[in-house]
Amino acid sequence: GSTIGVLGGGQLGRMMTLAGTNLGYRFITLDPTPNAPCGQVGEQIVAKYDDQAAARELAERSDVITYEFENVDAGVAALLEELSYVPQGSGLLYTTQHRLREKRAVEAAGVKVAPYVAVSSEDELRTAVARLGIPSVLKTATGGYDGKGQWVIRSEAEIGPAYAELSKAGTELVLEQFIPFVKELSVIAARSPRGEIRTFPVAENVHVDNILHVSIVPARVEAHVLQEAERMAARIAETMGAVGLLAVEMFLTEDGELFVNELAPRPHNSGHYTMEACTTSQFEQHVRAICNLPLGETKLLTPVVMVNVLGEHLDSVVEAMTKNTWDEANTGLMVVPKVHLYGKSGSAPKRKMGHINLLCRDVQDGLNWIEQTNIWRNGHA
Ligand code: ATP
Ligand code: MG
Ligand code: MG
Repeated sequence: GSTIGVLGGGQLGRMMTLAGTNLGYRFITLDPTPNAPCGQVGEQIVAKYDDQAAARELAERSDVITYEFENVDAGVAALLEELSYVPQGSGLLYTTQHRLREKRAVEAAGVKVAPYVAVSSEDELRTAVARLGIPSVLKTATGGYDGKGQWVIRSEAEIGPAYAELSKAGTELVLEQFIPFVKELSVIAARSPRGEIRTFPVAENVHVDNILHVSIVPARVEAHVLQEAERMAARIAETMGAVGLLAVEMFLTEDGELFVNELAPRPHNSGHYTMEACTTSQFEQHVRAICNLPLGETKLLTPVVMVNVLGEHLDSVVEAMTKNTWDEANTGLMVVPKVHLYGKSGSAPKRKMGHINLLCRDVQDGLNWIEQTNIWRNGHA
C-alpha cells in the first residue's frame, strides 16, 4: 500500500492514522515531540516542522502528504509540494492561515461573515470600533487558537490596551462585529480531487473559556437551518477547490441568519462525534478525499454528544472508566460512552487529552449523563 505522510503528530494525526491504517495505508508523521500521539500508532520522524532535511525525508518516504494543523511554514509547504504529492495544495493553507484572506474566500463563495475591518494601527482600531460598534472582537490575523490572540472590546477604554496587547504578536489585526449568536454550529465538508463533495451532519457546539466543551448532534435547530448550513459549507469547499476536509464554524442568530466564523482545512474537534455516530468518520473521509477514493456516506446512525476530556478531567475519566462507575451516571439514561484517549505524555489544565462520544437515545440523555458524572462541573473542573 501507499504511505501517507502527516505533518504534525497530535491527536488529529493519530485518529487519521488509525482510520487510514484500516484502509491499508501506512503512516509516517513529522513532529518535534518524541512518541507523539500520531507516532505511537504509525512511524515518526522527530524533528522541528521547519527542519528542511526532515521535511525532505518525510517527502521521500511518503506517496501522499497531508497536515493536521494549519500553521505549516510556507517554505516547508512549498518544499513538500515540490518533492512529493500534497493533494490539498498550499493554496488552501495560504488562505486559511490568515483571517482576512479566509473571510474574503468565504465572501467569494457568497456566504456571510461577521462585518469586519482590517486594522494596522491604534487610530485605525478607533475608527473601526466606531464603525462596527461595541462590543466587537479584535483578533490577530494569524496564529490564534482556543481564543488566544483575541480580545472582546467592551468599552472605549479597552481600545488602547487591546491594541497594545494584540499588536505584540506583530501580525496584522482584524476587528469583527460581535455577533450575538444563539448557537454556534459547525459543518465539516469533504471534497476530493475528482470534485466529489459530501458534508457531515451539523454539530451544535458549546465552548467554555473559548475551548470546545461539547458537540451535540443532531443540532437543536430547525431543519431549514441544518440544510442551509450544510449547503454553505459545500459551497465554500467547492468555490475554494478544497481537497480533503474543510471544517466551517458558524454563528446562528436569533432571526435565523448564519455567519461563518472561521475555517479549518483539516479534521476538526467538532467532528469527533463522527467516529462512532456516522457511517464514515471524518478521519476516514479525509484519507478517502486526499487519496481520491470515492467519498463515504455521512449518515448519522444515532444521536450523539461529544464531550472533551481536558487535563483537569483526565484522572476522573480514567478512574470512572476503569472502575466502570459510569453506570451510576447512567441511571435512567440510555447512553453508551465511547472513550478516546490520545496518549499524550504531559497532562495540563485546558490541554485536550481525549474525548468521549456519548451515543444516546436522545441528545438530552447525553447532556444529562455529563451532568450526572460530576466530572465536568460548570463545563470545566
Ligand atoms: P479555535 O480554537 O476554534 O481555532 P480561535 O482562537 O481561532 O478558536 P475563534 O473561533 O475565532 O477563535 O473564536 C473563539 C470563540 O470566540 C468563538 O467560538 C465564539 O464563541 C467567540 N467569538 C469569536 N468571534 C466572535 C464574534 N465575532 N462574535 C461573537 N463571538 C465571537
Ligand atoms: Mg481558529
Ligand atoms: Mg474557532
